[in-house]
Amino acid sequence: MSARILIVDDDPALLEALPDAIALRMNGITIDTCETAPGALDKIQQTDYDVIVTDIKLPGMDGLELLDQIKLLRPGTPTVLITGHGERDLAVRALRGGAYDFVQKPIDRDYFVASLERAIQVRGLDRHVDQQRLELERHARVLQHIDRGVFLVDEEGIIRYWNPAAQSITGLATDELVGRRADEALPGWDAIGPEVPVAQVPGPGSTEAKTLPLDIEGRELWVSISGVQFEDGIVYAFRNLTEERALDELKGEFVATVSHELRTPLAAIYGAAQTLRRADVQLGDENRARLLEVIAAESERLSRIAGEILLASNLDSGRFSVERQQLEVEELVTEVVDEMRAVVASRQDIVIDLVAKNGLSPVACDGDKLRQVLINLLDNAVKYSPDGGRIEVRVEPHDNCVRFVITDEGLGIPHGEQQRIFGKFYRLDPRLTRGVGGTGLGLYICRELVRRMEGRLSVTSSEGRGSSFVVDLPAAVVETSHSKRVSQPA
Ligand code: ADP
Repeated sequence: MSARILIVDDDPALLEALPDAIALRMNGITIDTCETAPGALDKIQQTDYDVIVTDIKLPGMDGLELLDQIKLLRPGTPTVLITGHGERDLAVRALRGGAYDFVQKPIDRDYFVASLERAIQVRGLDRHVDQQRLELERHARVLQHIDRGVFLVDEEGIIRYWNPAAQSITGLATDELVGRRADEALPGWDAIGPEVPVAQVPGPGSTEAKTLPLDIEGRELWVSISGVQFEDGIVYAFRNLTEERALDELKGEFVATVSHELRTPLAAIYGAAQTLRRADVQLGDENRARLLEVIAAESERLSRIAGEILLASNLDSGRFSVERQQLEVEELVTEVVDEMRAVVASRQDIVIDLVAKNGLSPVACDGDKLRQVLINLLDNAVKYSPDGGRIEVRVEPHDNCVRFVITDEGLGIPHGEQQRIFGKFYRLDPRLTRGVGGTGLGLYICRELVRRMEGRLSVTSSEGRGSSFVVDLPAAVVETSHSKRVSQPA
């Protein structure tokens, strides 16, 4: 047994003899000695002894007082008191005060050693229990901080544990759940509980988690969940998959939209090419030119779609940089507006007006990217104005920025959708009920491009009355007139 003992006594003869006597009977014991109570307290402060042995009567401070001090400093250390003959009452008081044991003078060495051995054993057990408690506390803390929802359902079906992640994923508070039956407290548990795969032993590959829905206050929460059986019940772990599922659905819609978007021009090209190939039909020059026109226009549309998909993927992966140059924007905006006017020339019902305020600062931006953003916003303004109307492009100074506002009188966007339209692949009308095609990538690309030029793209809209898309780009600082390439993080 290896242990460290402190003996406190003002009798030098006893301090001389006792350690030797103990050392003879107990292996691996280290013994410190001290003659005074203050000296003993110093040592106790520095060393966590396994046992402290002290005379009950010490000069300056008696053993009972010392005992109190020891209890404050080292509440777990057993203290054995040495009492004089006939000091039984004192000894009893010491025991009441928390002493572990007492021995009477003259000391019976065998009894003393037996008492020390027991005290050392008790101390060892205490330490072990403390260590286990600390470990349990650490485990509990881990469960408190883990990012998966973890809960325990006992054999009676009662929830015994519900960690903070479970609370934040579901919004169901720990004190509302713990102590209640899982099938009553957890909405939908009676249906999904039996579906959850439960392993008999923990570890990788023992069970695949299953994706199941919880119905929380009318909100469907998709979780990937599995359980492990143990003697007190089943411990379940889950994570939130709602967003991933929404993304999957969105991807599904994207595939549907894109395949539709690809099929329409392909069908037109195919039809035109087939007609051109027919030997039995005499096509006049005019018809031939019209069909070739269809092929050229639809090919361009295909290449635009491919370009959008590629650009969105480059923006995502960070393989993208923007040039930032000091640019006078008025000329660029005029060109864009003229271009769009030419494109929509066949639509008599659409008017595009340009309002450019005086005193515009130059902008630090990539001219090509700004052009792309404005064309996209204008294209949308036209696309989503099926009944025509006036489209206004306004350019004006705004704080330290130049502001571009594209306003239409078209379909407008419901309030709840106004942030979502900037999401990747997001279309308000994925099933094309309004007959307007698109990949749902345009606004995502616009917002990313504007963000990379340190600007901001936002929208205000009223359903059925029209929309205003606003681009704010920071005005250029005049000293930095030379061009510089800014590589953008993802
Ligand atoms: P796409 O036009 O290819 O569908 P966008 O990302 O450009 O993709 O736009 C996303 C959605 O936002 C569109 O499907 C449309 O529903 C809506 N939207 C965009 N611009 C307008 C606008 N000016 N007026 C009404 N709705 C718009």
